[in-house]
Amino acid sequence: MARTKQVAQRGSRTSYKSSSASESSPTGPNKRPRTDQWDGADSEAGGARTLDEEFWFEDGSIILVAGNLEFRVFKSILAEYSPVFSDMFRLPQPPSPPSSSEDADEPADPCPVVHLSDAPEDLRHILRVTMPKSNTSPFTHKPSYHMLSATLRLGHKYQMYDLVTHGTTYLQKYFTADLAAWEDGLVYDDEPFKRVYAIGVVNLARLLAEPTLLPTALLTCCTLGANIAKGFTREDGTHESLSPHDLGLCFAARSRLAGRAVILAATVFSPPVSDGCARPQKCREALQTALANLKKPQTAEQLMDADIFSPDARDLGWGNTGQCAGCLEMVRRRDSERRFALWKLLPMIMGVEDVLDSDAWSEASDR
Ligand SMILES: [Zn+2]
Repeated sequence: MARTKQVAQRGSRTSYKSSSASESSPTGPNKRPRTDQWDGADSEAGGARTLDEEFWFEDGSIILVAGNLEFRVFKSILAEYSPVFSDMFRLPQPPSPPSSSEDADEPADPCPVVHLSDAPEDLRHILRVTMPKSNTSPFTHKPSYHMLSATLRLGHKYQMYDLVTHGTTYLQKYFTADLAAWEDGLVYDDEPFKRVYAIGVVNLARLLAEPTLLPTALLTCCTLGANIAKGFTREDGTHESLSPHDLGLCFAARSRLAGRAVILAATVFSPPVSDGCARPQKCREALQTALANLKKPQTAEQLMDADIFSPDARDLGWGNTGQCAGCLEMVRRRDSERRFALWKLLPMIMGVEDVLDSDAWSEASDR
């Protein structure tokens, strides 16, 4: 693993090259190519490797290799965050290969190399969190989905528990157990979450065993229509989609949601009129009109919105047919009570009761 230090100044960086016997190209103080070659026996990928532009500290104490990129960073910082890295760095280094005679008096490169199977894009996100550069603001209120996903996936893999907790807490603000927060529609902003990323959130919830994320993440998946089967492409080019199990849950939940929406609308607009109704005859007719309106294709489509808690699903033309204030309030109250009752049932409706019972869901909604 020891390397002989070669010439190689590129900008402010020092580059190293393997002292492999197979090396055939001249390695004097010439200009290095843009891509640094690591031809030695320890080159697992076998291809050309590039020093990462962002994370190459000259005095770094470990070189992480991910894909074809090398990151020279600090062992102690990674070990502070991750017991997995800490253990990894404690492993004895493999014996150094014998140096060729011309290199014999060169000092051995003290910087060990660790090959990781992670995508370099993911690793860079973790490094930005654990050892931020001065040009990276830590005060980003809306981290990208990709940053969150990488932090959670690699944070889980390397047991960076605090990071995972921070990331999960952030996601729970969006994929919330709190109906009032859900109705605020945060998740429908374009940033930081496109709806399709709910598929990734379902997968993260499964990976991290965070079931409170599942009901609303799956509910959002149900709003994707045909796109639910397509998934999306992660930053590193990996395609992400729902597992067949979760796809099946969405399919089954879609029917339950439609059924519940019909019952809800029929119940909300049913007689009688409110106690103390100012115009009983007119209000009865208004309720009948609202029920009749459910037959209109546009209203029926709205009613069938998979997210029965969204503001769109709640606006069924009620309030435009001349009811008295008492009946208007009665219908709103009925609607809120029924929707809240359905919200409590969401783990059952979404088919995740095996991992999240309604008590745990209620508890999460009270937090
Ligand atoms: Zn009335």
